[in-house]
Amino acid sequence: MCGIVGIVDAGGVSIQLYYALYALQHRGQESAGISTFDGSNLHKFKGNGLVADVFSPPVLSDLKGTAGIGHVRYPTTGANLPENIQPLNFQFQERFISIAHNGNLVNTGELRAEYEQAGQIFTTTTDTEIIAKILIDAISNSGSVEDAVSICMHKLVGSYSVVILIDGVLYGFRDPLGIKPFCIGKTEHGYMVASESVAVDALSAKFLRDVKPGELVRIDSEGVRCMQIAVAGKCAHCIFEYIYFARADAVIDGVLVYDVRRQIGKKLFEEDPVKADSVGAVPDSGTAYAIGYAEGSKIPFVESLMKNRYMGRTFIMPTQKERERAVRIKLNPIKAHLKDKSVVLVDDSIVRGTTSKRIIEMMRDAGAREVHMRIGSPAIKAPCYLGVDMPTREELIASNRVEEEVRRSITATSLHHISIEALIEAIGFDRENLCTGCLTGCYPLPIDGEHAKPCHVDFVDGTYQAKLGSFEA
Ligand code: SF4
Repeated sequence: MCGIVGIVDAGGVSIQLYYALYALQHRGQESAGISTFDGSNLHKFKGNGLVADVFSPPVLSDLKGTAGIGHVRYPTTGANLPENIQPLNFQFQERFISIAHNGNLVNTGELRAEYEQAGQIFTTTTDTEIIAKILIDAISNSGSVEDAVSICMHKLVGSYSVVILIDGVLYGFRDPLGIKPFCIGKTEHGYMVASESVAVDALSAKFLRDVKPGELVRIDSEGVRCMQIAVAGKCAHCIFEYIYFARADAVIDGVLVYDVRRQIGKKLFEEDPVKADSVGAVPDSGTAYAIGYAEGSKIPFVESLMKNRYMGRTFIMPTQKERERAVRIKLNPIKAHLKDKSVVLVDDSIVRGTTSKRIIEMMRDAGAREVHMRIGSPAIKAPCYLGVDMPTREELIASNRVEEEVRRSITATSLHHISIEALIEAIGFDRENLCTGCLTGCYPLPIDGEHAKPCHVDFVDGTYQAKLGSFEA
């Protein structure tokens, strides 16, 4: 759950990277960083906080160059340490390398041990540094970045969309199962890659297509070339991107997230209709679902919770106490819309249940007679090992409770989660091409102690540099 971007543009990149990261802010609010290359030197700046707090106009004007990468971070692997802020920057054999990564490796421990035994030292606790060390080691042996990416892909197990800047050439690659989103756009004088299409839109650039699972994209001043390095028997797009993480206006792997959520809202009504005075959302992530529910049920959509838009997401606050306090500051009930009313309240998911409980209490305190909770995701049963900071099974309210027990716990009048079948139908992919690990406990990659249905991955053999093909949008 991070956001990445890479841009090569003859008109300069620092401002464009800034706005692209701004558009990706929802993917990580802990830290932000940008690296640029001006033809001779790597310029870099990063810090803790939101994009707008980390970068100032003087800082951006110092980030010179026509190629660069950026990152917004929410930590999944590695602690909240200053050295873990990305992009990570290296210099080796007089080459400048900068790297940023969205995802999470599940074989970090083995890879780190392997490279430490071979004499490598690590200065961060991130899996991104492991990717960098594998790449640098492979480049020093083979000389070709493309071959190095292939070696890297052979070794990495997990989810990864990666941007690398090497002496002004931008490389982007996506894991063979396409777990994390990644797309390509055309800027005014160049090209870009980014976690979500909203970053492309923010620059008034043209969305070209998604980076294919297992594909490597190379962008320099001459344009884009690409090649397929690995081909898996299926995809495993993260189903939670559609439910929660991605912005509703993002198009991921050809699907508009807003429409998925609206569709789910309609299906929520079909699966469990209820009579009520109004339909409201937990803003903002529940809004598209609630609009769909209102359309399906013909019950009017009335906002009953107002959001303070100057706060981050409570889901990604680090401690439970902070999250609970944040709910009250973040959401204010509109008493006149709630007094003596029966309300359908639609949200995207229930994780620990504490936020839902607090919201329902607030609505009852404001006079609501009934609060019928409808949830756009199926019950979350298991943790995520692939890049999303889900809590442990013990902390997940639905991991060992049936829906009625969850309803009692959050004090809702009624509760319904969308069925997994309806969710998959709304997204429009085959079930085999989606990761549903946190909903089913069955993962697309082998994970210690967990049930998995991994698939075979074929690698394209040969000298990769020679196989870089022309780009087709
Ligand atoms: S386990 Fe859940 S959150 Fe993690 S990648 Fe799979 S679907 Fe996404």
